[in-house]
Amino acid sequence: AISAVTPRRPRVIALANQKGGVGKTTTAINLGTALAAIGEKVLIVDLDPQGNASTGLGVDRRSRKSSTYDVLCGDVGLGQALQPTAVPGLSLAPSTLDLLGVELEIASAKDRAHRLKHAIDELVYDQRCQDLTYVLIDCPPSLSLITINAMTAADAVLVPLQCEFFALEGLSQLLKTVEQVRAGLNPRLIIQGVVLTMFDPRNNLSGQVMADVKNFLGDKVYETVIPRNVRVSEAPSYGKPALLYDLRCSGSQAYLRLASEVIKRERALRAAA
Ligand code: ADP
Ligand code: MG
Repeated sequence: AISAVTPRRPRVIALANQKGGVGKTTTAINLGTALAAIGEKVLIVDLDPQGNASTGLGVDRRSRKSSTYDVLCGDVGLGQALQPTAVPGLSLAPSTLDLLGVELEIASAKDRAHRLKHAIDELVYDQRCQDLTYVLIDCPPSLSLITINAMTAADAVLVPLQCEFFALEGLSQLLKTVEQVRAGLNPRLIIQGVVLTMFDPRNNLSGQVMADVKNFLGDKVYETVIPRNVRVSEAPSYGKPALLYDLRCSGSQAYLRLASEVIKRERALRAAA
């Protein structure tokens, strides 16, 4: 018999932090790859005009026919913008520099904050995307309308925090924005977790920052800490996730552990619901 059950909406996680260079894109690519490696079906939505997630996944600018700009403008569905990557089970909705102008274009539209949410809601009716289990959104380094679209579309926010002296600075602004989105646009939004990135065990400051962050955020902080690892930073220039470039390096192994922690939290959330 043909099942009449509506396919389940994938779990949508926005990687957000208005600071640049904290590891949002690196985490989107490698967490996405790690989730795909353990059997999840993952879509990475590149919402940064810089397009680093797209480049880092080997999708060069010329082959980005439809992009997240077209999706936010309402010209194409997300399924149409989707491209396969070298990682089985991982697809990408690429971005282009056009995205820089999207805010002006949609600013006066009534549904301007819900553009991405509607596009993701429609995915379950798209034959090509019905088996997706995770959507990871790589946000730009700002709390602009693009990031608001991501938070409005998301079930959860995952915050990458770099282990450096000013790590906590700006975090309260980010938490306030999440609170505002929850109050006005998306009541189901939660902070799924905070992941510490670029940890350097030889640097005393890194350890101090880790202690401070854990003190402040408690069990929101993932046990897995992503180490600073040169293989992780080299991988994008080959258009590959670190997990394909060097699976055994400490960074790749950390992202695999992070993926299983994310899945564990998701299961716990679902059981509690
Ligand atoms: P964001 O998306 O928040 O701006 P990125 O993920 O692009 O941050 O990371 C900023 C820079 O730091 C990039 O050059 C990236 O390759 C590097 N980087 C990120 N994570 C690591 C890591 N674990 N080890 C070494 N370099 C890293
Ligand atoms: Mg980035």
